[in-house]
Amino acid sequence: MKTSLFILGMIIFSLMTMPLLGYSPGTYAQEKKRICATMEVHDKLLKTVPAYKDSRAAIENLTRDYLLRGALRTEIVKIPVVVHVVYNTPDQNISDDQIKSQIRILNEDYRKLNADISIVPSVFQTLAADSKIEFALACRGPEGKPTDGITRTKTDVASFTYDDAVKFTPSGGMDAWPMDKYLNMWVCNLGGGLLGYAQFPGGPAGTDGVVITYTAFGDIGTASPPFNKGRTATHEVGHWLNLFHIWGDDCPGGDQCGGSDDVGDTPNQECSNPGCPTFPHVSCDNGPNGDLFMDYMDYTDDACMVMFTKGQSARMDAAISGPRSAIMSSDGLKCNGAPPCGQGSITALAFVLTVYGIGKMRKKSIRTK
Ligand SMILES: [Zn+2]
Repeated sequence: MKTSLFILGMIIFSLMTMPLLGYSPGTYAQEKKRICATMEVHDKLLKTVPAYKDSRAAIENLTRDYLLRGALRTEIVKIPVVVHVVYNTPDQNISDDQIKSQIRILNEDYRKLNADISIVPSVFQTLAADSKIEFALACRGPEGKPTDGITRTKTDVASFTYDDAVKFTPSGGMDAWPMDKYLNMWVCNLGGGLLGYAQFPGGPAGTDGVVITYTAFGDIGTASPPFNKGRTATHEVGHWLNLFHIWGDDCPGGDQCGGSDDVGDTPNQECSNPGCPTFPHVSCDNGPNGDLFMDYMDYTDDACMVMFTKGQSARMDAAISGPRSAIMSSDGLKCNGAPPCGQGSITALAFVLTVYGIGKMRKKSIRTK
């Protein structure tokens, strides 16, 4: 009897403490905190894909060299997007209008045209950047045929996770379109409260792109508070353009002020900020202004993340001039028979040659966490 009571007590104790000990399915869904699995994917690729580590080192070297040159891009670029809707239930098969609402939001956020930019505290307003990046649904498919930039796939998979199953037809998902021509965005049901994840530049072609759960995509239809303003895609595309989390991914851990997002104008920040903090939130001796928690690369709710900084925009510029350059000469948005220009492809080829050893490579900047 005593043994039974002890075991029963242990079970109750375990159930009470489980949410405090780490991730368990449903925990985050209940609390509605932003969760992004990009760093988990990054860590996995570092361990399992040997070329990825070298590729990441080369990209960080290119980024540093680009920023040192100081010749930032002035023209606007437009990125062709394909949205792969992978649905198990009818409500997961989101409407064309919901998809278009997300594209509109991306354009507003990356051009600093979002109305809620006004909530940025005055001390941070000069940091806010127009990234001069726009997005549009592709009108020309991989085979050159007309498309609306949307694919729809019925799946038997009830919920996906960040194992990339959604990116392959045999595992219940949809194969990627060529990464040198399109930004692939998968929309599906992600389990456990996961909102989305992205693959940084330099990863395998077949899994390049971003994945967003169907309840955090766009601002109509199935979009659900507090992630119903399309900012999950803004955040994940930021990763796709080589931005790290603003707190430097050093939390939880030992020296939580030691990590960096490798951006010069973002304040050093201890941990991610959930919800909607009150200004200022000071950490890591960054007072009096504190964390830049209204940045898209923090973990705040959609209504409270409203800006990229000029430093982040410059890092995205570097990605566009290097590992993402091929997509700038994509024919995915050329729908009147005009052939693509080849300049971007030449730049991309030079990058590939650099990554795979035809050129000297410095590795000291590699980020391994
Ligand atoms: Zn993230």
